Amino acid sequence: MADSRGLLPRLPRSALPGWLVVCDFDGTIADIDVTDGILSRFALPEWVDIEVEWKAGAIGSRECMRRQVDLLRVPLAELDAYLDTVEIDPDFGAFVEACHLMQLPLVIISDGIDYAIRRILKRHGLDDLPLASNRLVQISNSTYRLEFPDSDPQCRAGSGTCKCAVSSARAHGSKRLLIGDGSSDFCLAGAADLVFAKTKLLQHCREGSLPHHACPDFATARQLLRELDVPARSPIAVKRTWKAALPPVPPAAALEI
Ligand SMILES: [Mg+2]
Repeated sequence: MADSRGLLPRLPRSALPGWLVVCDFDGTIADIDVTDGILSRFALPEWVDIEVEWKAGAIGSRECMRRQVDLLRVPLAELDAYLDTVEIDPDFGAFVEACHLMQLPLVIISDGIDYAIRRILKRHGLDDLPLASNRLVQISNSTYRLEFPDSDPQCRAGSGTCKCAVSSARAHGSKRLLIGDGSSDFCLAGAADLVFAKTKLLQHCREGSLPHHACPDFATARQLLRELDVPARSPIAVKRTWKAALPPVPPAAALEI
């Protein structure tokens, strides 16, 4: 939200250090909703009926995605071929580097599919970023199930991956900056200290008067980070701080053929 001089508002000095950056994936890092892209191509048609139940609020995203992934019928090589066509925001890598230089730990928390996220990020050399998401497990040549290692029985949204619980556990007392776009971010947006928001999440933040900045892409997000008033640090001293701050995540998609 630039002013008449084209300048972005300066964020409070208290904003840094001591922040955890939480990034959504589908529609935020990836241009599209990858989960929808997978289901629309490779699931039996009933997946749409389940989506209707979820949109009506009859079921949470955890039950929705568990049932939808049960309907997938696709060999892994064909799934990979699709995933290899998915693009990400061209400035996400530079944003990660900016966080790195500012000693801001970053974690991707997604209610999508871990295997898809890692496959896509790997093409960009970013698959070592901390990730919490729903776990895809292959159970035959072309069928799968979804597991939920980061769900929370107390999750008010019934999510497969509870963004509130995961980010709270990983923040270690730091404030939380959420970057997202959609309804899977609504719950955490109400608990986060600041939100960089676009599309549906931006509207949600405006309607709820939540602390936020309009942020259509990672070029803007990076610019907003640079507006934060933090002391200069040596890049040498902060190499890959997110790895030190957060435990490694095991490889995705354990195969059980
Ligand atoms: Mg999203």
